[in-house]
Amino acid sequence: METNVIEQVFGKDVFNDEVMQQKLPKDVYKSWKKTLESGEDLDPDIANVVAHAMKEWALEHGATHYTHWFQPMTGVTAEKHDSFLSPATKSTPVLEFSGKELIKGEPDASSFPSGGLRATFEARGYTAWDCTSPAFLREDAAGVTLCIPTAFCSYTGEALDKKTPLLRSMEAISKQAVRIMKLFGYNDVKKVSCSVGPEQEYFLVDRDKYLQRKDLIFSGRTLFGAPAPKGQELDDHYFGSIKERVASFMKDLNEELWKLGILSKTQHNEVAPAQHEMAPIFSTANIATDHNQLVMEVMKKVAKRHNLECLLHEKPFAGVNGSGKHNNWSIVTDTGINLLDPGKKPHENTKFLLFLAAVIKAVDENAELLRLSASNPGNDHRLGANEAPPAIISIFLGEQLEDIIEQIIRGNVSSSIDGSQLDTGVHVLPVLKKDATDRNRTSPFAFTGNKFEFRMLGSSLSIAGPNFTLNTIVADVLQEFADELEAASDFDSAVKDLIKRTVTEHQKIIFNGNGYSDEWIAEAEKRGLPNIRTMVEAIPYLVSDKTVTLFERQNVLTKAELESRAEINYEIYSKTINIEAKTMIDMAGKQYIPAVIRYVTSLADSINSITTACPNADTSVQNELLEKCSSLLAETQKALANLEKVTDEVTEKEEGKEEALFFKDVVFPAMNALRAPIDELEMIVDQAFWPVPTYGDLLFEV
Ligand code: ADP
Ligand code: MG
Repeated sequence: METNVIEQVFGKDVFNDEVMQQKLPKDVYKSWKKTLESGEDLDPDIANVVAHAMKEWALEHGATHYTHWFQPMTGVTAEKHDSFLSPATKSTPVLEFSGKELIKGEPDASSFPSGGLRATFEARGYTAWDCTSPAFLREDAAGVTLCIPTAFCSYTGEALDKKTPLLRSMEAISKQAVRIMKLFGYNDVKKVSCSVGPEQEYFLVDRDKYLQRKDLIFSGRTLFGAPAPKGQELDDHYFGSIKERVASFMKDLNEELWKLGILSKTQHNEVAPAQHEMAPIFSTANIATDHNQLVMEVMKKVAKRHNLECLLHEKPFAGVNGSGKHNNWSIVTDTGINLLDPGKKPHENTKFLLFLAAVIKAVDENAELLRLSASNPGNDHRLGANEAPPAIISIFLGEQLEDIIEQIIRGNVSSSIDGSQLDTGVHVLPVLKKDATDRNRTSPFAFTGNKFEFRMLGSSLSIAGPNFTLNTIVADVLQEFADELEAASDFDSAVKDLIKRTVTEHQKIIFNGNGYSDEWIAEAEKRGLPNIRTMVEAIPYLVSDKTVTLFERQNVLTKAELESRAEINYEIYSKTINIEAKTMIDMAGKQYIPAVIRYVTSLADSINSITTACPNADTSVQNELLEKCSSLLAETQKALANLEKVTDEVTEKEEGKEEALFFKDVVFPAMNALRAPIDELEMIVDQAFWPVPTYGDLLFEV
């Protein structure tokens, strides 16, 4: 019998546990597993044997090269390929790969963003094997390459990547959560890990049309474009039936992801036309992060095979929804307990309530940091607009938990509201049991059954930042809790007192209403919740005394590392806006203005030749259009000159914060001023003259 395609291909390109069990001598496999579980240092002899097995497996699958695959601060992955060829005295080539090559690589660090760490330290950078994330094979035009997930750090050990702080934060939260579990009598819990399931939104557009838009090519989003006659107002795209071309993309995508052991699970159309989503089954934070990077990469690659382009930008099109990433996050013990699972009677589940209280406190005390962790220049177009969650961080708990929190604050917890039965009024339909909690799509941080869903993330972001932030701030609260509870003489009453005190102090962060409403903005301000509108304004919180103390206490990032990250954030912001401004200047000067000149000339020619042929003919339409277009053309030229002027002025600003603020406050408004007349022209200029595909072409013609 033919097997299902999932069974045939799943994990085929991964050096996973099963392969290791087959390939490694029993004792080596055992001690390797032990290292992995205990988190102890890796024995070099073991590394040699693993490297050999890995090489044999990769060669069997046709690999010619290996690479240390890492995640520098650019937010995308990096790799340098080496072939397995080694210098040999014989004329036949010898293929080698040692434990040393597996464990350590040395790419030159000097061309990656280091935010000043390089000025003070060496240019040398090292990649170190992350054995907690399996190696995999990548097949492309370069052939087959063995990819080894690694962390990337400087000569003196500073983190230069997104993975190192994530791994450190996982250790931090594990350490503190284990202490708490001991207090509850769970002495068998040795390790706690974070599970993450990121939902990925994206757009697909026709590649030929994409290639005619310099803005999409250079900046990933349309910098000009009048709205199409139709947008998303009919709600007919969301969960709609999937177009054939998109469906065949999804089929290919799934197969490629399954081969890499990525648990691609859900796919559907999203709210905006041409927008879609993929969600995998959750895995450990570190693996989920590696996988999400691969998901984005594979989406782009597979799209091209279908002559499509996958847009991962947060806001590719004005006027319709942009894309985000929902980061589903929970904490699970090595014995299989989900610490955010409320169980049937949450009001009696003290352990759950304590972890819940820790998350509430951590989020309330570090809302600014979470806001920053979800930010990139693209996401500034979404947060605060009427689609993504608002820029204000609040927590949605749902009816059941909110009721329990109220009972705790009142001082008498006695019940949990139960999910009732759903009666559709139709006898042939089954009676459904309702969840205890309805959904709230407007909350940036929502409790959804047995996990929190952090919904603020930009679609193109690496999920490492949001997750190490979350892990670290929760670890810090758990440490404080553990310190207090370990010192208490009566644990039961101390823990109840602690939960009550915490939720009372931090109830202001809990909000179950509509996060999009104006009332909420006013209410949040009254509660003292921060409303940070842009990424640039959030960056200073990364280097506040409070953040530095917290991150150093948890051994996740040092002051120097945090400072370097703040610099990199400013730099990324400035460079992004600069590229957008330069692209607009290019398109306006070389495409739009010449096209409009051609059009107004044709109008003038028409008026002239008609009046010559028939002096009494009515040319009022041409006249009106000619006047209107000419005046918009003049406005365009003025706005273009201004944008050129202000982008030149940037050089006078000091790099870092001052420069980023200038881009936000001066360059960005000048870009909008250039877009406005061109979008207006697009609505009246003869289509045959328009130099680029329109929103209608891009969004509806796949
Ligand atoms: P929804 O649209 O309702 O949010 P999806 O199925 O699109 O649901 O996404 C839910 C995501 O949450 C999936 O990636 C799923 O694997 C993940 N998830 C479920 N349980 C957990 C958990 N305990 N920890 C982390 N992620 C989880
Ligand atoms: Mg979701």
